[in-house]
Amino acid sequence: MSIEENLKDIKREFGPEVTLVAVSKTHPVEEIMEAYEAGHRDFGENKVQEMMEKKPQLPGDIRWHMVGHLQSNKVKYIAPFIYLIHGVDKPKLLRVIDKEGRKKGRVIDCLLQVHIAREETKFGFEEAELREYLDSGQLRDLSRVRVRGLMGMATFTENEEQVKREFAFLSDLFNRLSEDYFVEEDRFDILSMGMSDDYELAIETGSNMVRIGTRIFGPREYCKTQ
Ligand SMILES: *Cc1c(COP(=O)(O)O)cnc(C)c1O
Repeated sequence: MSIEENLKDIKREFGPEVTLVAVSKTHPVEEIMEAYEAGHRDFGENKVQEMMEKKPQLPGDIRWHMVGHLQSNKVKYIAPFIYLIHGVDKPKLLRVIDKEGRKKGRVIDCLLQVHIAREETKFGFEEAELREYLDSGQLRDLSRVRVRGLMGMATFTENEEQVKREFAFLSDLFNRLSEDYFVEEDRFDILSMGMSDDYELAIETGSNMVRIGTRIFGPREYCKTQ
């Protein structure tokens, strides 16, 4: 199947209230162009360098999503154009994004990543940590950061019940935080969860943004140095 057909196939499964981010990491700009020509505009990368190499070769109206772990010292490169940063997992990173947003005259949309998986290796805030941070009021001082919602990655497992539990936890946390901390802001509205293997489950559980790579572009060939 072509990239265009894959996109159509996936989008048929959900309504316009769910945003599909096409995760194009490791795939060449030609394949991104194929999706672009099929009308797709939201693309995700997980490495700053790769995004910076691809962006100038592609149309300017692409909405670039940073879906991977982001290091503070790399924020400056993407700050001028990034549409949404999905993986914000530390107060320090928020401060750096605020600083770079100020320099570039932008307000940068971010999602707070929550650690929901069993694997230790996955990044993100724990709920208590997140509440402590939100209670501290530090976020209010960051006028160049707009927290739009939460992002999470489930455990890599065949066990559907477990994945469902993890998504349900995140979805519930999203609703509770929304009520506890973001009532006055009408923009805490994005719940980014679901990838190629689990997006149906994620949407059933309340996701409104899915990040899909393999189902659109096919398998990735990883370079050992990455
Ligand atoms: C690579 C990646 C995806 C897409 O994964 P697929 O399984 O290929 O759909 C989604 N989210 C993040 C954070 C990723 O790094």
